[in-house]
Amino acid sequence: MTAGWGWPLTPTYANVAAMVPPDSLGNFYSGVGLDRADALRRDETWVAAQRADPENRVILVWRNHNLVRRAETIDAVWLRIAEAPVLRDGAAEPVFLGRDGETAIFAVDLSDLAEAEAQTLAAKHGIFEDLRTVGPLMAQRDGAVLAYARGLLYWHQRHRFCGVCGSATISAQAGHVRSCTNADCGCQHFPRTDPAVIMLVHDGERCVLGRQKIWPPGMHSTLAGFVEPGETLEEAVAREVYEEVGLAVSDVTYESSQPWPFPASIMLGFRATCAHGPMHFATDEIEFAAWFTRAELMASPEDESFRLPRRDSIARRLIEDWLADG
Ligand SMILES: [Zn+2]
Repeated sequence: MTAGWGWPLTPTYANVAAMVPPDSLGNFYSGVGLDRADALRRDETWVAAQRADPENRVILVWRNHNLVRRAETIDAVWLRIAEAPVLRDGAAEPVFLGRDGETAIFAVDLSDLAEAEAQTLAAKHGIFEDLRTVGPLMAQRDGAVLAYARGLLYWHQRHRFCGVCGSATISAQAGHVRSCTNADCGCQHFPRTDPAVIMLVHDGERCVLGRQKIWPPGMHSTLAGFVEPGETLEEAVAREVYEEVGLAVSDVTYESSQPWPFPASIMLGFRATCAHGPMHFATDEIEFAAWFTRAELMASPEDESFRLPRRDSIARRLIEDWLADG
């Protein structure tokens, strides 16, 4: 169960997949390809039966690290429930990710285990790795499923208490809701993903790339920032560009999006036009930014003097699409 693209569409989600233009599935960490079975996951009897079926599968996560198998390739480990005593004995609270055909896929967070325990458990099957490190080396679909598992379990970790009354919450609807245990409150909390805009700013001939101090040496990338309450995505693009480099953009157009569970974002990719001009950095965010021609970017040495963003990022996609338009 480690195939990348070419994974057969099953009837259960063919209709959903058919509604989405193929191009929009292109970014890494997209293309989970599971039927999320919203109606079934509300049915506790059905969910319990799936948890008890030894042939169903479980994705293990420990402290935001995913279980992977390192061989010639790096693959997700889709453990059979029969091989996962943590799920069988009811000690861990599984989250239902969806169905792959008739096979139910769960994710389980083992973060309560000490490191030695987690490594012992993992040793028979693989190793816990940070998806930020191994993701770019994996088949896209494996990366997408691991990102989904990590993102949803991260939300559970961070929402153990009700934000309204402070009481404990419990997982419901197979992990797609957390319900407040205070009967007087009863608030339901739903998984969150934070919208962030990321934009290639260009004047037709040159584009703006910048870098932050915390990035790997030499890495330059597109500008980005979180969407704030009370603004449209286009307004967020214009605000962030102005805040970070002091440029005024026009013609903001949507390109594509990417789930980015590091830890909890959905990246919304745009292209924005801007008149060529000097920049003023907000140095607390941007260490450096400049205009680059296509020829300069295509000659990138990809070393510590200058490199483009990682290949699994939408930033790279935005840059490569702009280069291809030249
Ligand atoms: Zn509450």
